[in-house]
Amino acid sequence: MALEIFDSKTGTLREFRPADPEIVRMYVCGPTVYTDAHIGHARSYVSFDVMRRYLELRGHRVRMVINITDLDDVIDQKAARLGEKPEVLAARYGERFLEDLRTLNVRPSYANPRVSENVPAMIGIIEKLNEEGYVYEVDGNHYFRTTLLGGYGQLTHERPEDLLADEPIMEGRENPFDFLIWKKSKEGMVSWDSSLGAGRPGWHIQCYGIMRGVLGDSIDIHGGGEDLKFPHHESNILISLAHKGKDAIGYHVHNGFMTRGKEKMSKSLGNFVPLRDVFERFGGSVVRFYLLRSHYRETIDYDEDDIEKAQQDLDLILGFEKDLKEVEKDGKPRGFVEEEIARHRKTFMDSMDNDFDTPGAITALLDFAGCAKTSPDDLRTTEARLALGVLSEADSVLGLTGAD
Ligand SMILES: [Zn+2]
Repeated sequence: MALEIFDSKTGTLREFRPADPEIVRMYVCGPTVYTDAHIGHARSYVSFDVMRRYLELRGHRVRMVINITDLDDVIDQKAARLGEKPEVLAARYGERFLEDLRTLNVRPSYANPRVSENVPAMIGIIEKLNEEGYVYEVDGNHYFRTTLLGGYGQLTHERPEDLLADEPIMEGRENPFDFLIWKKSKEGMVSWDSSLGAGRPGWHIQCYGIMRGVLGDSIDIHGGGEDLKFPHHESNILISLAHKGKDAIGYHVHNGFMTRGKEKMSKSLGNFVPLRDVFERFGGSVVRFYLLRSHYRETIDYDEDDIEKAQQDLDLILGFEKDLKEVEKDGKPRGFVEEEIARHRKTFMDSMDNDFDTPGAITALLDFAGCAKTSPDDLRTTEARLALGVLSEADSVLGLTGAD
């Protein structure tokens, strides 16, 4: 079966064909590091880690990049409150974020580039866009003209005015949705020199500059949470059209929201679930397994009872694996047992081929663990070894044990 991935831009499942058959390039939008991650962040990175792992199981080499946004007003504001340098605060939370990824068994990235380390490449792109008329200045700040090149709506298929809850800010902009591409320097702000004056790049050009700089002209999968579609990823598409005449992205992939009490987790509602609090109670592998029991595009309503159920199911699978290791009965593998093992493996793989259907894949594993015909008591060592092979393959994708 071919792997099919849901592309948010076309709104359809599309067979996965990387631009370069040798190497799959994935870029996932990383966090702005001014505070610790919450459970919604974990969901995004675990979802894309499983995609990457499954592509690797299918024989692809994958370059996975998760950036770290270490230049932003919120970082400056918090650093000023704490009386420390923004770069020190951002470095600390950046390290804590990478620790969280390890706790979640997220495979190490090809790169975790910091925005602050890639500004010269962004400046080169901004200067080119400025020369070509895509950028204009208002009071030292520079904005990108979002009404050109088809404008917003190419990813969400909605008008920007229907996507914003609040009135957009004008500040002298030609169009209220035009985004800041170069912010002029002010006191206390880490800044760079450019032909547009001293300043620093805005958020959308940061990600675009890094992905092109680190991964090149074609990125197979650009990933992030649903909330990044607009304006962030819509803006990335417009920048790419202006810069290179085409969208650099093969597949636009977005994970669903996490809610709590059916309400979107947000700063204003104060209902974020800090990831480290969850780790203290359950441990990284269980949190990961809990998240994967829902399809990555579904909304998950955070519920600790569900994490406890996840723990029980995970124990069941790991117990099955342990039992298989203890089988000591000699004899050749029997055809009907081999068929049974192959059937479970196929269900697992077919589920993953269907837009990374991890709930389906996990159900296949639980069926396998509970299947009478393959109960370890009835098995021979040769058969147990085959079954362990299937489990270890599944583990390499789902990252259940942290073993690689
Ligand atoms: Zn981004």
